Amino acid sequence: MIRRTYLTMALASSLALATTSSCIIAVGNDRSVMTPKASPEAMSPTLGGKLYTSAWIQRSAEYKALCHQAYNIATERLLAATARGGHRWAIVTDIDETIVDNSANSVHQALKGEDFTQASWDKWCDQASAIALAGAIDFFRKADSLGVQIFYISNRDEANRAGTLRNLRSLGLPQADDQHLMLRDASRNSDKTARRNAVLQQYEILMLLGDNLGDFDHVFDSKQEQTREAAVAKLAREFGRRFIVLPNPNYGTWEPAMNGGYLPLKKRDKKLPQLLRSHP
Ligand SMILES: [Mg+2]
Repeated sequence: MIRRTYLTMALASSLALATTSSCIIAVGNDRSVMTPKASPEAMSPTLGGKLYTSAWIQRSAEYKALCHQAYNIATERLLAATARGGHRWAIVTDIDETIVDNSANSVHQALKGEDFTQASWDKWCDQASAIALAGAIDFFRKADSLGVQIFYISNRDEANRAGTLRNLRSLGLPQADDQHLMLRDASRNSDKTARRNAVLQQYEILMLLGDNLGDFDHVFDSKQEQTREAAVAKLAREFGRRFIVLPNPNYGTWEPAMNGGYLPLKKRDKKLPQLLRSHP
């Protein structure tokens, strides 16, 4: 019941704060927001927002329908391409918010009054309990049955390898082994280009799946909104063809692009109302 009360407060305060920039009192990582006595105005709009988007991910039929839509399109492309024969096909896929849903961790963090932390993320990965997106398992099993190689290219760290493989295998995903799991190395470089190129040395990439546009092309790793939007316009025909996008309203490169970098939570909270379109 405490969780429910807290969630209600968070959502109500998020809505209030989004409409009145002058009354923002952001508390950032202050855990005092966890107490039942915390003023609704003391809630972080960023974290309250993540609770609401997590509610959409976890409770809406619309989210599941969008996941099915993405994987249905991917399946059509898979069947058409493999029917032609004569290719050494590979599929490149991201993992987080593309195959598995980590919104439980976003909720856990928001309820603590914290945004993403590496320590909590590592612990979550180790639990290996993320559930699969609608349509994902059937698609990858189909690809496997048709002889297509599946490369899981993720920006999880090498420290997360064992937990990640455990999670993928427990969900019944095919080819979940060290050879097919390509994680971010010790340099912690999030650019996936080198890993995609390694796949291209042996295979043709039939399609790429991801929730963050950097899963498709390095141009989208830009922290400039205009650069990212211009690249979307330029590559518009690839979406639903070579690029299959899954919805993720919880996080992504869009956040630092919108905020002008990775700002502390308090600064993001303060800036948010000025970034949004409204009317007089
Ligand atoms: Mg992802």
